[in-house]
Amino acid sequence: MTTPVFRFAPSPNGALHLGHAYSALLNFAMAREAGGRFLLRIEDIDIARCTPELEEQIYRDLAWLGLEWETPVRRQSEHFDDYAEALERLVEAEIVYPSFMSRGEVRAYIADAEADGQSWPRDPDGAPLFPPLDKERPASERRRRMEEGEPFAWRLDMEAAMAHWGRPLFWDDSGSGPDGETGSVPARPEVWGDVVIARKEMPASYHLSVVVDDALQGVTHVVRGRDLFHATAVHRLLQELLGLPVPAYHHHALILDEDGRKLSKSRGDTGIAALRAAGTTPGDVGRMVGLEVPDEGFSHQARR
Ligand code: GLU
Repeated sequence: MTTPVFRFAPSPNGALHLGHAYSALLNFAMAREAGGRFLLRIEDIDIARCTPELEEQIYRDLAWLGLEWETPVRRQSEHFDDYAEALERLVEAEIVYPSFMSRGEVRAYIADAEADGQSWPRDPDGAPLFPPLDKERPASERRRRMEEGEPFAWRLDMEAAMAHWGRPLFWDDSGSGPDGETGSVPARPEVWGDVVIARKEMPASYHLSVVVDDALQGVTHVVRGRDLFHATAVHRLLQELLGLPVPAYHHHALILDEDGRKLSKSRGDTGIAALRAAGTTPGDVGRMVGLEVPDEGFSHQARR
């Protein structure tokens, strides 16, 4: 049997909070339980928003929680070539197209479409699906605009991609989705419309880099927050289009604040560093998220 491989994959675009602590601790506990490996991956493709200071803080926070991970840590910003190669295969298969519409143009298009009282379809995050205009542009126009240096994003032609794969998609979830979906879950990537796969100046997007990295790192178990449950449908489609292995999934509950809202990186109150500064112990953090964590941190117990 192959060794199970788990990963915690934060983005250093804000400080980690209690929700991240739960995800990291749960990954670590599940890896230990399964006799598996635990990896940390830094998802920093958004180089405008990710900073080295926040990355350092992630290492400090996780070490304080007592977690130990394999090194070297994979930092996505060092692997754009891998994503570019995957993108190239999608371009060659003609299942991605360059989209030129600006945010303003998209907003205007949708406002216009909704003017007669009909609502434009929204994705699971509530964002309107991308209009079909760019997809219909002739190849000569696309080439010209790209050559002229216009900004663009590579989008998956969802219809063409689904037809290309041509079979139903599923994933196994030992956790659950927002509506209690669990077990073998049917994937419906079409609810996202033509998602961004890469940009002119950045040959990667979250969806592309996450599936490429999970495959390259041999990740067998993806344990992450329920907010990414529906995104898994896109990941399953990309895995099939790129011929990548399919991990098992476990989407866990989100830690909510007292008002029942999702914790956010911008609200400092439940930041791990703030909790530590206020005298909270790793054991307290464990109690706050419902996991058993020794006061001196997890890995110390593992070594005993
Ligand atoms: N980097 C993502 C985040 O911080 C998580 C990606 C994943 O676990 O697939 O939300």
